Amino acid sequence: MGNMAFNDKTLRASNQTAWYPILFDAATGKVHDRYTYELTVHCPDCEALYLSGSEPARGQSATFKSAEPAHLLLFAGQFAFRESDPMFFINTNLPEASLTSLQARKDDIIAHYEELLQIPYGGDLTLVATSSTAVKPGFSFVSYPTIVFVGNNEGTWDIGNLFDAQTGQYKDQSIRFLAHEIAHYYVGTYFKPGGPLFWGFNEGLTEYLAARYLRQINRDDLHLAAIKQWMNQSAGMEHYVPIADVTEADQLAFDAYRYNFVPLLLTILEQEIGQDAMDQWVRLLLQRRSATVDLAFWRESVLELPVSPAVSPGGWAAVWADFEARFLRDPQSRDHALRYGESHFLPSSR
Ligand SMILES: [Zn+2]
Repeated sequence: MGNMAFNDKTLRASNQTAWYPILFDAATGKVHDRYTYELTVHCPDCEALYLSGSEPARGQSATFKSAEPAHLLLFAGQFAFRESDPMFFINTNLPEASLTSLQARKDDIIAHYEELLQIPYGGDLTLVATSSTAVKPGFSFVSYPTIVFVGNNEGTWDIGNLFDAQTGQYKDQSIRFLAHEIAHYYVGTYFKPGGPLFWGFNEGLTEYLAARYLRQINRDDLHLAAIKQWMNQSAGMEHYVPIADVTEADQLAFDAYRYNFVPLLLTILEQEIGQDAMDQWVRLLLQRRSATVDLAFWRESVLELPVSPAVSPGGWAAVWADFEARFLRDPQSRDHALRYGESHFLPSSR
């Protein structure tokens, strides 16, 4: 669980701080933290108030309502915000050109996801920029429909670093990052995995989708950079367990595994079953909405795919059995994945 953060000017409390009642279903391992709400916030020292899922308000008191379930992220204090039709930017201090380019990129990402996944995006996003209160340099997270950037005006995670210093335009190198955060509507909100592979799917599938977007816009160079990063981080993992041996969600709750090794595995699966089947599988998965995600679930969901004539005589069962044995079950599965990546994804050194 996260902490509430007070800096000199604002209070930030996300769903992860559990500042409101959150239900945990022990039978399925699922956390229920999105609610419809009607809440009145009083804050005598505040100039502005924001509750995720509603529009920000100026003043010391406001009643927020949401008929759509939202993660309850509260941001209150002394900050400015602006509506840049239709996205709210809270406390960002970004120039107009930057807001416009970010918004254009966001619109493009959402349009691609909607077409690929055949699910309308959940609604407009709000962007909050704030500073870190910890030694940690900064980070970013989504409390849908809010994307929060926690930077320190010069740290890696400061929102200003997403833009080119000269032109103010949204940087190509930052596209995957935004695509990841935006994909969290589909993974983590629309589809809410539970169970032992929760972290692997919640972050790994999101990261895979972000990289999938890079290919949709023909940026194979950026996609290759993602794969290289995943391979490097996977190679450096200290606590490695094959997917088949994961029994607790916490076993995957570290970044090298969930943000890097899992998307590498998903990219290998895509290579093995083909792009069309992979896209179908992701669509099928999202329609489960809520599922206990473990190896059996993963296997069964792939085996449900319609078989095309291009698939080997054994159908998906044979393709999957080979994938599972090599990459999910074998104690050396990480090495297999890295070698596969070198031979299939990296450009030949010849
Ligand atoms: Zn994420």
